[in-house]
Amino acid sequence: MRAEARIDLDAVRHNITAVRDRVGAAQVMAVVKADAYGHGLVPCARAAREAGATWLGTAVPEEALALRAAGLDGRILTWLWVPGDPFAEAIAADIDISVSARWALAEVEAAARATGRPARVHLKADTGLGRNGCQPHDWDDLVEAALKAEADGLVHVVGLWSHFACADEPGHPSVPRQLAVFHDAVARAEQHGVVPEVRHMANSPAMLLLPESHFDLVRSGLATYGVSPVPDLHGPADLGLRPAMTLAATVANVKHVAEGHGVSYGHTWHSERATNLALVPLGYADGIPRHASSTGPVLVGGRRRTVVGRVAMDQFVVDLGGDTVEPGDEALVFGPGDRGEPTAEDWARAAGTIAYEIVTRIGARVPRVYL
Ligand code: PLP
Repeated sequence: MRAEARIDLDAVRHNITAVRDRVGAAQVMAVVKADAYGHGLVPCARAAREAGATWLGTAVPEEALALRAAGLDGRILTWLWVPGDPFAEAIAADIDISVSARWALAEVEAAARATGRPARVHLKADTGLGRNGCQPHDWDDLVEAALKAEADGLVHVVGLWSHFACADEPGHPSVPRQLAVFHDAVARAEQHGVVPEVRHMANSPAMLLLPESHFDLVRSGLATYGVSPVPDLHGPADLGLRPAMTLAATVANVKHVAEGHGVSYGHTWHSERATNLALVPLGYADGIPRHASSTGPVLVGGRRRTVVGRVAMDQFVVDLGGDTVEPGDEALVFGPGDRGEPTAEDWARAAGTIAYEIVTRIGARVPRVYL
């Protein structure tokens, strides 16, 4: 084993159960986009379903179609569409489609006509994120057009939804503002005659911190994988979550070097004294952030060490100080932390990023091993 990402599917099941306990009557969508945040699309989707996630969420249609091809049934919502996407295939595969704009509605209508069955759509409101979604001044027009398509037997408007900009910052003024805009969008749609099956807004931080955002369904991404979306406020354990991914590698080489030894490209680090160095065969091609050069923490030989010098494409070096280890020993890059290893949140701090990016970017070269 050069390196592997060990995925604890029991932790995924535990996390979905914890989310369900927290949200009461609301349904739970396990967001499994981006290869289940790097944890593996199909195994994680199955585990989430087993634990009672009634919905799966994907960004792009290829992910939803891959779930169907793997035999996953039940509700799946896909939200990031571009013109020319396989709308007809998605309708035939019974995938719920998010619609943010008239062009998408027109493609859905044409695909429904071609497929001979109505599409289930969720109209997405931009309540203030400023990304996808329909702006308030275009909302009535989109709702009316969707209801006309419904009258023509081409769509069922089953969902009204939106997404937060700053749910991970408690007290941020945009949060109540977005909730108010969403309530207004729902009321206006209902006045036009929409009877939504599900209204949904909450991502992981909103699900954890804002019960008033739960509505009928919460979309649990990061929390599904046991990583905290608000690491400065709460670790996973405080939130009742268990991290699902452990990134491990086998030490490839160990050597004793003298004082003043330059390490890796650019010689950004030199040993201040004679020391032992261990080579870990993971690099930025595997998702180890280059920004964690000389800051990333790793558990080797029972103690936390630090990356020294630049992270290269396939490898990095850690300083063992006066200790030594053997080639073939295990290096734990991150995991739940219960063996003393760093967490994904620790790596995010070391690299000046978010833990979402740390887990999602673990590369395809690193096999996922399911526990
Ligand atoms: N909903 C949408 C539309 C998203 O894009 C995402 C992910 O970014 C999520 C829900 C899940 O977010 P989180 O991982 O914070 O739960």
